[in-house]
Amino acid sequence: MIKLHDKYFKPFISAAEIEEAIDRMVAEIANDLGDEVPVFVGILNGSFMLTSDFVKKYPKPCEVTFIKLASYEGVKSSEDIQRLIGLTQDLTGRTVIILEDIIDTGKTLAEVHRIFKNEKVKALKIATLFYKPEAYKKDFKLHYIGIKIPNKFIVGYGLDYDNLGRDLPEVYQIKETQHMTNLV
Ligand code: 5GP
Repeated sequence: MIKLHDKYFKPFISAAEIEEAIDRMVAEIANDLGDEVPVFVGILNGSFMLTSDFVKKYPKPCEVTFIKLASYEGVKSSEDIQRLIGLTQDLTGRTVIILEDIIDTGKTLAEVHRIFKNEKVKALKIATLFYKPEAYKKDFKLHYIGIKIPNKFIVGYGLDYDNLGRDLPEVYQIKETQHMTNLV
């Protein structure tokens, strides 16, 4: 059990399980793309750790860039997605793989699609490490999914609770009943 600010979190997904999921996604993408050189686009802040581990494992040449979006304050999804840093390179004719840390309602993904609407990419594929099917409200196809999780707030492996927890190598789930006496 860990405490971040006022909330308690319990261990949920181990570093080994995360690595296994990434290995599987990397293998699927490498297999689908053959010798084509993809551009991986990490969505900051949450996907910084995923993007780093992902491209280290990718077995063939690839390019990496980032866009920075923000949708969350604390544990609640906010209506507005802020675009803090947009695309900085020309992706005309390229196969782009979006690397998302987590897909929840899909609002961030909708913003990603808006960003790419006028780009003349060859293909736009979505890869997400974590996916909450019960929360997802959009119709955009998710091409590569790491681990499906229930609709509960998690931290670790890039994901934060009010800026804490991003550095954790494994993932923790919020503990909703917080009886101090039960905590070890
Ligand atoms: P969506 O726009 O799909 O509702 O949410 C996507 C973004 O919200 C993610 O990139 C992430 O920053 C944040 N988010 C969604 N679910 C969680 C969660 O369980 N934990 C944390 N820490 N962030 C989340």
